Amino acid sequence: MKTKGLIINRSFHGLIPTFFIILPVENPYKFHSKVNTKYIFVTGGVVSSLGKGIISASLAKLLQSRGYKITIQKFDPYINIDPGTLNPYEHGECYVTVDGHEADLDLGHYERFTNIQTTRANNITTGRIYQNVIEKERRGDYLGKTVQIIPHITDEIKRNVKLLGTKNNFDFVITEIGGTVGDIESLPFIESVRQLRWEMGRDCLCIHLTYVPFIAAAKELKTKPTQHSVKQLQEAGIQPDILVLRTEHDLNVDLRRKVALFCNVDPEAVIQSIDVPTIYEVPLKMQEQKLDEIVLRKMGMEVGPTPEMKPWREFLSHIQTAKESVRIGLVGKYVELQDAYKSINEALFQAVTYNNRKLDLQYIHSEKLNESNVEEKLSPMDGLIIAPGFGQRGIEGKFVALKYAREHDVPTFGICLGMQCMVIEFARNVLGHKEANSTEMNINTPYNVIDLMESQKFVSNMGGTMRLGEYDCTLQEGSKVAEAYGKLHIKERHRHRFEFNGDYREEYEAAGMKCVGENPDTHLVEVVEVPSLTWYIGVQYHPEYNSTVLRPNPLFMSFIRAVIAHKK
Ligand code: GLN
Repeated sequence: MKTKGLIINRSFHGLIPTFFIILPVENPYKFHSKVNTKYIFVTGGVVSSLGKGIISASLAKLLQSRGYKITIQKFDPYINIDPGTLNPYEHGECYVTVDGHEADLDLGHYERFTNIQTTRANNITTGRIYQNVIEKERRGDYLGKTVQIIPHITDEIKRNVKLLGTKNNFDFVITEIGGTVGDIESLPFIESVRQLRWEMGRDCLCIHLTYVPFIAAAKELKTKPTQHSVKQLQEAGIQPDILVLRTEHDLNVDLRRKVALFCNVDPEAVIQSIDVPTIYEVPLKMQEQKLDEIVLRKMGMEVGPTPEMKPWREFLSHIQTAKESVRIGLVGKYVELQDAYKSINEALFQAVTYNNRKLDLQYIHSEKLNESNVEEKLSPMDGLIIAPGFGQRGIEGKFVALKYAREHDVPTFGICLGMQCMVIEFARNVLGHKEANSTEMNINTPYNVIDLMESQKFVSNMGGTMRLGEYDCTLQEGSKVAEAYGKLHIKERHRHRFEFNGDYREEYEAAGMKCVGENPDTHLVEVVEVPSLTWYIGVQYHPEYNSTVLRPNPLFMSFIRAVIAHKK
């Protein structure tokens, strides 16, 4: 009954199934299910990088502001189990959740917008889906059946889509499908969405994000790519309920009507997502066009009064009123890649904004930094961030930057590898151990001030085996870092294999670099600072993962306050 009017031709060309689907003749909304949690899918078309993550996070923010309990999850169609082993050139920053999952950077947006913490259940890849299915097959769970993409892979996708909602009683689960409609690798995800929509009826809704290019020579905005993209989705059996059109120019009513007509979408459900100076304006742009109201109405939910979003607007008002700027130099090796240090950029932006300043962020390529150009490159900076990272490349430039910063008292913030570099530079130039290093860079260093953690010594698999996720940290009373947090016990997220070598602790402390934060259980050193300098702090953890618009990270706030005071 449910598949009436639906023809699936499963002919295999090589390994890839192709589907010829005639759209259902009956209204799928007829099958109203008893599920209370509502499922919203966000797909993308035309090109990638349109900002599905930002649209998903903005909608989540708007629904949350209306008092609904929401969560967002991302399905990535690649085969890796998680992005943990991916090079930043491949996939930008690797975000880390509190429960130690190495995740897609969109989860960072979800947290920054909604203030809720995500977990490994919020990010699923094709690799994990297949891993689960293959494990079940090995256990004999499929009782002699041939294991196939449909129904076994799609069932596993559907189970994962619903997992969060059923476990936690969310009102809304927003699911972002990575990639672009039409990609071979996202076919099973799209097919799962089609099935879920059919099964859930009105409890399920699809938002499709496309692009409207402006052809400069013709001075015209073009809707054809959107039409094609929607057709592609319809061919897969999915009729989008709402279209969000990414554009650099205002889309007039006629254009939107035309898109609505060609794509079977209500005219008011064609929404534009125009370029804005900051991503944090997107929720308000969506609210102006009633994205959340349209969603609620389509899903048969109460709309109620429009939330004012006061704290959010207040944050944005700082951006408009700020006049002076602070110039922060970010020293790292992925400087040509915008997304490699995403969470650091956002945490800095939040802290700078709350301090009524504009962020002037300068990327400084650590591979190109040396004794002869350090003065020229670093003297214009008000403060420095020494970036996290892995491996030898660009490491010497970080030592050059740190020596300059320490000797010129530039407020400096070392994060993870950045903190380890602070420790190494101090050993080389203050303690006089010229050959000091991390055993990550030189296994034979005579001064292994940074060394592999005991727990890492017998690790052979690279994926998901670092010290990951949230750990407790006890801060020393009277330290700058304790003052910054305003408390002595904190929790922050980690992602590393190497640590400060405790054998050298006394030598460091005697020479002026203090170990002011440690793990209460393992006594690993988590924070070092040089109290004689204005603000010279290194943290083994990643405070940037824990900074949201409405709850900026205290250490970033303290750093920016110090930078501003020092500048004066
Ligand atoms: N490479 C260092 C380690 O593994 C630092 C990692 C990082 O900066 N995230 O300990």
